[in-house]
Amino acid sequence: MKLVPTTTEDAIKKARSRENIRLLYIAGAGRSGSTLLSSVLGEGDGVCNVGEVQRIWERGILEKGLCGCAKTVEECQFWQETFNAAFDEGINSVNIEEMVRVVNTLVRMRNIISLLLKIKLNKFSDNERICLQQLEKLYVAIYEQHPERIIIDASKYPSYALLLSHVLKLDVFVVHLTRNPFAVAYSWGRKKFNPDRKANMKNMSAFKSTFVWVSWNLFLQVLCSVIYGRKYMQMKYSSFIDNPNNELSRLENFLDRENIFTRFDKNREMSVAVQHTIAGNPMRFEGERMKLKYDDNWVKNISPVQKIFVHIVSWPWRKFLGY
Ligand SMILES: [Zn+2]
Repeated sequence: MKLVPTTTEDAIKKARSRENIRLLYIAGAGRSGSTLLSSVLGEGDGVCNVGEVQRIWERGILEKGLCGCAKTVEECQFWQETFNAAFDEGINSVNIEEMVRVVNTLVRMRNIISLLLKIKLNKFSDNERICLQQLEKLYVAIYEQHPERIIIDASKYPSYALLLSHVLKLDVFVVHLTRNPFAVAYSWGRKKFNPDRKANMKNMSAFKSTFVWVSWNLFLQVLCSVIYGRKYMQMKYSSFIDNPNNELSRLENFLDRENIFTRFDKNREMSVAVQHTIAGNPMRFEGERMKLKYDDNWVKNISPVQKIFVHIVSWPWRKFLGY
């Protein structure tokens, strides 16, 4: 995408910023543990966890959702400063409804072929270009808050990662987080209150959640591993839960950085400070001490009907995807 900066100085600054913006993108199907992983990573001194930025326009601004600091996104100082740095006349100068419409349409998985063609042929509509410029300004402003840090973005959508790396030209590293499809289906079927929405979290049938699990993970494993090459790695949620410090070291190797993440103590605990994150699992509001629990609740509690649906939908692919 061609951007149109106002001055040469702006152009140099933007170009320099973009190529320096290293972003660790957590991709994967919903309920795979991305909020937990991003919260743990966000404790490190060398990173800045901003949660699911893809949802900032809809959940964060339009629906007045809560930041991880428990203030609304518009009241949060981190986001206020980011918006003021990104947009000359603040967030009110941005057409939020249009941002929601364009970003959601571009990243919808059923539109993935259309997105790949648009990227390949550089054929975005004028409206889409304007929205992508606003998106780019937002990421540059996040980066400029802590230029020495790696941004953690847990937006999950495989297609949104493509937008960041191949359209905005950020330096994107993709960690593909996978979780057992039975655990995912069980999580989608559970009732859990979300203070962000002041309602229970969305539910999904085992049939649908497993269909999403198969299609998203296949796309990531087959296509994104080729597109991103050495900037792609897989992580199993269960491996992270069983041996978190090992997986944190593996991530540091992947990013070619040392000691950027905080480690768990021998009791599998870690102190967590406030992080200014968008959307995600309500565990992001759970307080100052995090203790990792083993991921086995679903084994005892998943219903026989859920089990059957997961078996049927995931059967041909499960082994290929490592489960
Ligand atoms: Zn905040």
